[in-house]
Amino acid sequence: MESVDVLVVGAGPAGSTAAFELARRGHSVRMLEEHPEVGEPVQCAGLVSHRVFDLGGDPSVVRRPVRGATVFGPSMNSVRFAADAPRAFVIDRAALDRRLAERAVGAGATLATGEKFDGLEGARNGSVTARVVSSDGRRSEVSARLVVGADGVASAVARAFRLRRPVEILPAVEAEFPESPGDADQVEVFLGRRISPGLFGWWIPDGSGGARVGVAITPGPETARSFLDRLRAALERRWGKRLKEPSRFLVSGIPIGRVPRCAGDRVLLVGDAAAQVKPLSGGGIFTGMRCAQFLAETADGALRANDLSAGRLGAYDVAWRSELEAEFDRALYLRRILLKMRDPDLDRLVAALANAELQGAIVAFGDIDFPSHVARQLLLRSPSLVRFFPMALGALWGSAPATVPSLEPGPRRQTT
Ligand SMILES: Cc1cc2nc3c(=O)[nH]c(=O)nc-3n(C[C@H](O)[C@H](O)[C@H](O)COP(=O)(O)OP(=O)(O)OC[C@H]3O[C@@H](n4cnc5c(N)ncnc54)[C@H](O)[C@@H]3O)c2cc1C
Repeated sequence: MESVDVLVVGAGPAGSTAAFELARRGHSVRMLEEHPEVGEPVQCAGLVSHRVFDLGGDPSVVRRPVRGATVFGPSMNSVRFAADAPRAFVIDRAALDRRLAERAVGAGATLATGEKFDGLEGARNGSVTARVVSSDGRRSEVSARLVVGADGVASAVARAFRLRRPVEILPAVEAEFPESPGDADQVEVFLGRRISPGLFGWWIPDGSGGARVGVAITPGPETARSFLDRLRAALERRWGKRLKEPSRFLVSGIPIGRVPRCAGDRVLLVGDAAAQVKPLSGGGIFTGMRCAQFLAETADGALRANDLSAGRLGAYDVAWRSELEAEFDRALYLRRILLKMRDPDLDRLVAALANAELQGAIVAFGDIDFPSHVARQLLLRSPSLVRFFPMALGALWGSAPATVPSLEPGPRRQTT
């Protein structure tokens, strides 16, 4: 049986970042990826900020910079925000994952694709034994001092270690359209219960003439697919033409909420497995990679001290929460308010944002990783917005934005 210091389950951005950080610190790391190819199938719209590149994402995966967004209310009234410089990047998500896994392997980790974590066999001699099933049905075992669950929204590692995940999972569906009639520099966001109850719909030009179009919803009687069809119909009405059929659909889930503990005896969760996802957008690439760095710092010390107890590993929870939890809490709070808003309220909110001062503030402070920062700035500038968010003022006022020097919201550098 193979024996390693760390078994990382899942070669997504969070798992590969954790594997890289631990391997470069000298630990033996094995990564398991259930799919035959890292990064496939893609389950993501691939919109990220420069921070993903600051954290080690390869900038060559950028397909197109994005300079702004148009937000549509339920009745398709809209407000447009356009910046001079890139504010986000559309990436080749499969390539990002591949490069991050290659980086981990380059640092000394081993990667087994087509190998699935299938539960725990037990613990002995200071290690746990993980069951592994390969795509051809072969069974094997790996002994590890520490298991990292970076296995996404349905985390089998969390289940095996009995770590509770009381999070809301939003069904999401995305289609790749071969054409993109709108502005290639702008993403579009669609609000409203008729189109995307629970989060929003999106149209993201993919940098190759097509677009990634999707919705994420609160689970209910209607499928995410039927909401996507409705969004498509609304867009066809807007453009006055039928859109060509999409080449590919993806269906997945977005975890929103808080996992009480991301650490247990000999286990750590990271990324979607730990619901380290931005609650207002569902984006989790930056946050998962950042938390993987915190994970590696804690795990490195614990492995060296040979103390892999929940108590010692709990320092990881403290570390990542100290940087991101305030933002997550504010965003969860704003999300709850948005969920209560009826479609006419959302139309009024979109109309209220079409004010030169507020548009300017959104362009100046808009930050896809720290959206509560801009919400705070808007409320400061426009007390009339308070009628939409009556309770938000106190919540946003009382707390400072996350303070992480190199990652802090504010003026951003150009990546391309
Ligand atoms: C429709 C959609 C659009 C999105 N768009 C964006 C976006 O534009 N920007 C953004 O930042 N985020 C976006 N997200 C969220 C983003 O995709 C996730 O937050 C991110 O992928 C989380 O990374 P991760 O490494 O934690 O997990 P994942 O990327 O899910 O990686 C987990 C890996 O674990 C593997 N795995 C699972 N179980 C096992 C097992 N038992 N054994 C071995 N391997 C296993 C999986 O195959 C997978 O490769 C989107 C999500 C969805 C659903």
